[in-house]
Amino acid sequence: MKYKSTRGGMAGLEFSEAVRIGLSSDGGLFVPEENINFSTEELNSMVSLSYEQLAAVIISRYAGDFTAEEVTDCVARAYSKESFPDNPANVTKLTDNVSILELWHGPTSAFKDMALQILPKFMNYSAKKSGRSEEIVILTATSGDTGKAALEGFKDNEGIKVMVFYPECGVSEMQKYQMITQEGSNVNIVAIKGNFDNAQSGVKTIFNDTQFAEELLSKGKILSSANSINFGRLLPQIVYYFYAYMQLVKNKEIGMGAKVNFCVPTGNFGNILACYYAKKAGLPVNRIICASNDNNVVPDFLKTGVYNKNREFLTTISPAMDILISSNLERLVFDACGENCYTVADWMKELNTTGCYSVDEKTLSNINQHFWGSFATEAETSSTIADVYNKYNYLVDPHTAVGIKVYRDYIATTGDTTKTVCVSTASPFKFNTAVAEAIYGKDAIDNMNEFETLEFLSEKTGQPIPAPLKGLNTREIRFKDVCEKEDMKKKVEEFIYG
Ligand SMILES: *Cc1c(COP(=O)(O)O)cnc(C)c1O
Repeated sequence: MKYKSTRGGMAGLEFSEAVRIGLSSDGGLFVPEENINFSTEELNSMVSLSYEQLAAVIISRYAGDFTAEEVTDCVARAYSKESFPDNPANVTKLTDNVSILELWHGPTSAFKDMALQILPKFMNYSAKKSGRSEEIVILTATSGDTGKAALEGFKDNEGIKVMVFYPECGVSEMQKYQMITQEGSNVNIVAIKGNFDNAQSGVKTIFNDTQFAEELLSKGKILSSANSINFGRLLPQIVYYFYAYMQLVKNKEIGMGAKVNFCVPTGNFGNILACYYAKKAGLPVNRIICASNDNNVVPDFLKTGVYNKNREFLTTISPAMDILISSNLERLVFDACGENCYTVADWMKELNTTGCYSVDEKTLSNINQHFWGSFATEAETSSTIADVYNKYNYLVDPHTAVGIKVYRDYIATTGDTTKTVCVSTASPFKFNTAVAEAIYGKDAIDNMNEFETLEFLSEKTGQPIPAPLKGLNTREIRFKDVCEKEDMKKKVEEFIYG
């Protein structure tokens, strides 16, 4: 299995190269050159596998130049009991038709751990395979969850440094404390004066600066990415769609081969794209329901075929989805337009220059064969958190609530009774203020800081605070740097050269 760029500039790369570089030199994203298809026989054999076993089976098929032993080693270290004391991908039944796939039992209490615990292991092997000795510098823009998960994944990893930029006012207190108290000798965290898109654009600009890349190379350094533009991050996310499906079969919720819907709270379009890849690889999936918050660029795109980021950037209670450029959509449109890399390159150029592009009718109808999209307002997100708790005694975080609200829209619109898995992307305790406010009202937590609210929510609901979120405010603050968005490159240089 080889990898190529969505914009035609690179092809024939090994998996390890695609992982090591992260982003193609033409600005495109790496995609598999061949189709993977798991047979019915193979699907049947997956039902009885543990998460680790299944991960090894699926990842091996895509990681062309990794041996089975190497994949197994990556998987074993990533999903160890130390990182995931419980099942990494717990499936719990909410109603007869709806199950929740909880992806937040890892070290940072958000689903990003599912990929960012294993990406560093892929990267270590990839570096070794390349025969090159450059130090890898991971640059990441985060709206809160990626940054922390990348820091946890890469901390103290030999031969790799990691630098995270986050929007100063775009992350929760909890997320901020998770990052600024990060341990490890190879990490750096800087806040920028701007929003997530500014941070992401800044990082992309640094990546596309070929002169800078050459200068770094001459000094034995190479930049790479931990954002979901790296295929090594998407790949581990394909696994849990298979796993969730197999759990439904195992629990006799469905028979093997029956189709299910997946509903995915969407920001950068990485998680949901992994679901699409799972479907392409033979997983029986009916609809992939795309849920956005008020920043509903993608649902608008699904309706009209016009991707238009020229709109106000809104800060919401589901900040990990406050995004106007969903990078991974490029991989979907590449697929849907018949892999025409020149067309994709044109669209992305338009997006870059005008902030807008529109796909042709055929491409849009190809996409809409699989996807359905809508969004939740802030009020709808809050009322869904309260409603799900009051009806089912189940706590959901705002991102997951956005998904459930949109799933309800989907049912109201289509009447579809297919069993559905709603993907839960963060622990409710990670976004405790929004959750407590939704259930108990603003007055109940008036005057409380986020750490007091955390205790309050736990006491009221009788549910334990996840270990990674305990005692954050008593840890040593190690990173206080704030910079203008124009100064990001300078900060990178300072970090790299010391
Ligand atoms: C990152 C994130 C999302 C969005 O996932 P994408 O892969 O960027 O679409 C949703 N919810 C939470 C909690 C996240 O951290």
